[in-house]
This record gives sequence, structure tokens and C-alpha cells, in this order.
Amino acid sequence: SNGSFGDGPEAALDALQSVFGYDSFRGQQAEIIDHVVRGNDALVLMPTGGGKSLCYQIPALVRDGVTVVVSPLIALMRDQVTALKELGVRAAFLNSSLGAAEAREVERDMVQGEIDLVYVAPERLVTPRFLDLLDRTKLALFALDEAHCVSQWGHDFRPEYLQLSILHERHPTVPRVALTATADVQTRNEIKEKLGLTEARVFLSSFDRPNITYRVVPKKSERQQMLAFLNENHPEDAGIVYCMSRAKVEDTAAWLNAQGREALPYHAGLPAAVREANQDRFIKSEGLVMVATVAFGMGIDKPNVRFVCHLDPPKSLEAYYQETGRAGRDGLPANAWMSYGMADVVMLRQMLEQSEAGDSHRRVERGKLDALLGFCETSGCRRQVLLNYFNETLAEPCGNCDTCLDPVEIWDGTVAAQKALSAVYRTGQRYGAGHLIDVLLGNTTEKVAQQAHDTLKTFGVGKDLSKTEWQSVYRQLVANGFLTVDLEYGGFRLTDAGVAVIKGQRTVGLRKDPVLERRRGVRDAL
Ligand code: ADP
Ligand code: ZN
Repeated sequence: SNGSFGDGPEAALDALQSVFGYDSFRGQQAEIIDHVVRGNDALVLMPTGGGKSLCYQIPALVRDGVTVVVSPLIALMRDQVTALKELGVRAAFLNSSLGAAEAREVERDMVQGEIDLVYVAPERLVTPRFLDLLDRTKLALFALDEAHCVSQWGHDFRPEYLQLSILHERHPTVPRVALTATADVQTRNEIKEKLGLTEARVFLSSFDRPNITYRVVPKKSERQQMLAFLNENHPEDAGIVYCMSRAKVEDTAAWLNAQGREALPYHAGLPAAVREANQDRFIKSEGLVMVATVAFGMGIDKPNVRFVCHLDPPKSLEAYYQETGRAGRDGLPANAWMSYGMADVVMLRQMLEQSEAGDSHRRVERGKLDALLGFCETSGCRRQVLLNYFNETLAEPCGNCDTCLDPVEIWDGTVAAQKALSAVYRTGQRYGAGHLIDVLLGNTTEKVAQQAHDTLKTFGVGKDLSKTEWQSVYRQLVANGFLTVDLEYGGFRLTDAGVAVIKGQRTVGLRKDPVLERRRGVRDAL
């Protein structure tokens, strides 16, 4: 900025009120902004709709110089810059949609300090031309938006993000703020490490989205189930339906239209013009259903999305949180609905095991998938499981998810849990479900023989349940906090609660798996 807000503590509030027209800061905004304005690095983890943008826009106005915002989405950049200009902020973007003359004008404004915020795509940022431009510009701040794009595990991975550490190397005194709505521990650590932000202060907001009701139903006839749900709850609302494949996206959109429900498809296989047109219609219209693959959603700013349905489960809880988080950004009640079946589990496992990825990558993915399945199968509050995954504790069941609203049938799984947990303990707390189940079922595999696990007391004590049922038991033990998964190696470890179960100090209720009940035929296909 040109310093018109002064540098006292009231400068940020002054900017908030006089430029943005808001009365007060929300959540941790004031703290974050203060920290950044003083020239410190920050990693901001805040759910979608939490108000991340102001965390760099206000420092941009208060600090002297130009703020460079790295954003992976051209459409989003344009929206933000338009909105800022309407507020009288000197903002611009630099990306491939700009002509050479326009780009030169922005570059000149930067060098002359006649601009406060420049949004730039990551691939442009690391070009020699832009780096040279930065050398000639007085810089106020680097803001790295959608910072989870640096994570190689996520489906938003952008290789150019890996090069962003160059900014700090060349301009070590310019503060940086990285922002994301994705915050599992893995991604968080990856952001810190890859962007060189290990010393940055982390601002972790609550990830609870209390206005979203979570529901997971066992798959029977998924489309009919979904349509019934929509007819009952959202006959005229806009929402998103996620499917695993492009073909299923097309089929489902066509089917919904045939049922009288207006729907559009969106996936990476459609021509760019069609994608853009469909996205545009979705954002502008009221009651449209967008049927999409994961390619749809990042940066979509439509506050009144009333439902997000998953006809197929996503690959991880993190993806689930992100995708369902697109519902109810306006704070009004919204639904997250998912149908989940045994065949999905088989498919996700197969995809994972057949992927080209190396062993360590696969172990991480396996841990993530297990956490997701645990969420699907929990007999407890889904919100507690979800927040627990983000290392956040919700003291009481939420009262706003399906298991809270209609408690599920549970069976006394104490003895099964004791067997499962003892197997973990006696094998040294190093193994994942696969090997432990071999021990419980008394399978003398090579690994079992090698480790002499056939001599353990728990060897073969679990023949009363099938392999699939033991998998469900382990997932539920993880979901309910009796075991933790080492995300690096995939092994289980007992928690204090788990130890209490082994000692007979606690009982364990397990969910009757309605999917297993119905799909006996494929239950051992895993
Ligand atoms: P995010 O990037 O975290 O998804 P945004 O920055 O887009 O969230 O903010 C979400 C909405 O909340 C926007 O409409 C924004 O203008 C509004 N908002 C943010 N901070 C405040 C505040 N302190 N007071 C009122 N509204 C705010
Ligand atoms: Zn709940």
C-alpha cells in the first residue's frame, strides 16, 4: 500500500471498516492480520467461508509495498480482483488471460508502487521475467492461497507450487502467509516443509461446520435413494452430486434430467467451453444440480449450495470434508449425503493397491482410506469422527448428523475389540489391519511365519468373524479412538482408551454394518 492507513494497531480495523464495510473481525482474523502486518510468517488453516481472504488483503493495505497473491485459479483471481476494485482497492492480476500490453501495464504499476495487490498464477510466478520484476518491486507480503496444492497426496496437486520456496530464498525479509481450507496433519506438515514455513506460526481455526448435517446411507439403489432424499429435502435447491467416474457423471446427469430434475455434468473430459458454461449456469441459477467429478469445486464461490451428495465415497476424509464444505457457505442449514456400499470399498482398495505409487505413498493412502471408511461405519457422532481426524475434539455428540438423529443398531463388540486390540499389542504395535487379521484368523502367511506370530496367544482366536467383519471392527476401533494409525507406516497403536478395553475397564459398542448384512455375497471379496 502507500501507507494511508498508518501503522498503528487501529490501522487494520480502520481498513476493515472503511474499505470492506464490516464492523469487526471474525474468529482469528484480527490475530492473524496483526501477526502478518508485523512482518511475520503465518500458516492459516481455516474452513471454507471462514474469511481467509481478508487475512492477506488487509495486511496488503496496511503494509508498505506490493502484496503478491499466488492463486491457482484464473476464474477466482478475476472475481477477487473485480470485487476489490469495486471497493476502491488498487488490485490486478497477471495470468495467461491477459494481453501483453495489459500485462506490461500491471508490471509498471508494480515497480512504481501504484498497486496494492497483484494476483498471479504459480507458473508465471517462477518465470525469470517475473522474478526479475519482483527484484525491482517494493514488496509488502507474499500470500500463498490454496497452499494445499503443494501436497502430492491431494488431487489438487500443482507441481509449480513446489517451486514457491524460491520467493523466500530471494526475498527473505518479506513475510509470507500461506492459506488453505485443508488441514489434515499430513498436508499441514507437507505445506510447512515444502514451502519452507517450518518456523511460521500456525493459526488453526475450528473446522466444524455446524450448519451441515452429515448422513451416510448404505447403498441399495443409489440414484433412487438420492432422488428420494432430494425430493423430500431439496426439491428446488441448488446442489452438487459427486461421482467417481466421468461416465457415471454423464449418466447420472441425464438420468436426473429424465426424472424432471434439472442437472448439468462437469468433468475434466468435457471441452473447456462447456465446463465454463455449466459452471457459470450453476453459479447464477437457483435450483440446478451439478453432477461432477472431483474436478469441480475448488474456488467455486456459491454461498447457497444447499446439498452435496456423494454417490461414491471420496478417497479420503480430507477430500470428503473439502467437497461437503462447499455446501452451506452462507451459514444456513445444508445437507451432506453419501451412499456407501461394499463394492465401493472393494473398488477403492483395488485402485489403491494397483496404483503405480511406491510403498510409502500407498501406506499413506491406505491410512487415509481407512479413516474414511471408519467415518462411514461409525456408530458414534460423525462430526466427532470428522473433527477428530483434524485433531480437533468435540466434547459432546453434535445432534446434527444421522447417527445422532437416529441412533444406529449396535452390538456388544467388547470381546471382538479385545481380540483385535490384543493382536495389535502382542505384535508390537507395528502392523496394519491386513497382517493382524491374518493373525486373528490363524492364517500362516509368510509374514506370520517369519515373525513367529503363529506362536502368539491371539493366533487364530478370531475365527468367529470373517475377514471383512474384522476389517470393519478395526476401522471402527480407529474411528472411535481406540487405535491410532501411524500415517507414515500404516501400523496401529493403542490409545489409552484401547488399553482400557484390553484391561476390561471399558466396553465397546460396534455398529451393525447394514452393508455387510445385505451383501454377504461379496463380503470376502476384499
Ligand atoms: P474463504 O476464503 O475462507 O473461503 P472468504 O474470504 O471468501 O472465505 O470469506 C467468506 C465470506 O465472509 C465473504 O463473503 C467475506 O466477505 C465474508 N467475511 C469475511 N470476513 C468477514 C468479517 N470480518 N465480517 C463480515 N464478513 C466477513
Ligand atoms: Zn453427530
